[in-house]
Amino acid sequence: MAETQELEKQIIGEVWTSPEIYANVERLCDFGSRFAGTESERQARDFIRAKFGDYGLENVRLATFDYLGWTRGEASLHIAEPLHKKLPSAISLVYSPNTPPGGLRAEVVSVGMGTKAEYAAKGDQIAGKLVIANTDSPAHQRWVHRREKYGYALAGDAAGFLFVNHLPGMLPPTGSLRPGKLAEIPAVGLSYEDGFVIQRFLRGGGTVELEMRLTNQTGPTQFSHVIGQAPGQRDDEIVVVGAHYDGHDISQGAVDDASGTALVMELARVFAPLSGQLRRTIRFEAYTAEEIGVFGSTLYVNGMNDVDLGSIGFMLNLDGGALGSGRGLALQGLDELQPLFAGFTREMGYPLDLVNWVGTASDHFPYFMRGVPVASLFAHRPPGSGRGFGHTMADTLDKVSEVELRESAMVAARLLLRLANYEDSIGRRRSQDEIKQILLDHDLEESLRAQDKWPFE
Ligand SMILES: [Zn+2]
Repeated sequence: MAETQELEKQIIGEVWTSPEIYANVERLCDFGSRFAGTESERQARDFIRAKFGDYGLENVRLATFDYLGWTRGEASLHIAEPLHKKLPSAISLVYSPNTPPGGLRAEVVSVGMGTKAEYAAKGDQIAGKLVIANTDSPAHQRWVHRREKYGYALAGDAAGFLFVNHLPGMLPPTGSLRPGKLAEIPAVGLSYEDGFVIQRFLRGGGTVELEMRLTNQTGPTQFSHVIGQAPGQRDDEIVVVGAHYDGHDISQGAVDDASGTALVMELARVFAPLSGQLRRTIRFEAYTAEEIGVFGSTLYVNGMNDVDLGSIGFMLNLDGGALGSGRGLALQGLDELQPLFAGFTREMGYPLDLVNWVGTASDHFPYFMRGVPVASLFAHRPPGSGRGFGHTMADTLDKVSEVELRESAMVAARLLLRLANYEDSIGRRRSQDEIKQILLDHDLEESLRAQDKWPFE
């Protein structure tokens, strides 16, 4: 305990006084989007690998996978009826297929936020239409993910999918439709303002026809995660700490998730010198291909044999945990983690908000699905702000607060220190039946089925 406190002071002092963490965010943003398959992604990969080595991590390596890459082309959308009007904000969603050579012309049907109930209320009006759903999700209920909304459009035989920002001034959103594979129907993101133009004509039962033309490309390519570790005194309960370094192709992915990657790199920097001193080995993982449907880490984790996976005691995901006012941990429905982290929180004297959400759309999820105890750090954003500028072209370096970044790194470091030295097992592994039950308890079957991600009967 006294030893932990001494180490903690040393680590916090280092994080608070060093310019390294922000400099790393700058470098990651300067490479560009780091979107899977781009040159900027490869530059970031090499940069992280070199830094892991410089910081003194051991066994620094790449985990490389083949996959079907997707490259954005032109997108054009205009209202054809009741009057001709261009909707200039339209951008393809990731893995959108192309429209037929002559374009796609169809009527629009609005499904509000795009919940299952809203789709159901439209009945067979979905078939053959362009469905328009916004980025919002019902208050006080589980989050309805874009891929779920897209899945319902597909199930209703829609001709296409429009995903409209529900917040004014927040630009058109991007995001993936299917994990690592070409989606079935053309889909675009639209700004609130362009969405309003459509809604205005729909109001009062009017009919709106749109014409859409999308030209994107797919082709075989590769991606690589970057992995390194700081050895502990034992090797059988490794603590994994990870975040994704890829961003969306339309921005710098500064908040989502250069900032989370910089947290992982900062932890690597301050924990590498402690090699051999802590109880557990810490493994640092910088993933890519997260923004294409949590595809990268899914391939990686599903490719692990039982022995390798069995050596992992816990996974802490830092995606989205770097920037915001208060910080919290999402404990993924794993009850026994509540008293554990409540104890850490008391000891730290830091008001960490412990919630029991199960997140299915980031890199802890593949570990969770294989029964490994996981938690995900998050930072509070202003209520009602949704993803903020995440997934838009405004997710740029200017949104990154150096102070918040350092505070998150300190919180993450204090947690990691306790996880690495904890005397008992950190949580317990779950069987596939238990995982299924947690997902059912959290009302996630429908969502995962719509996304083609439900692996159970
Ligand atoms: Zn992210």
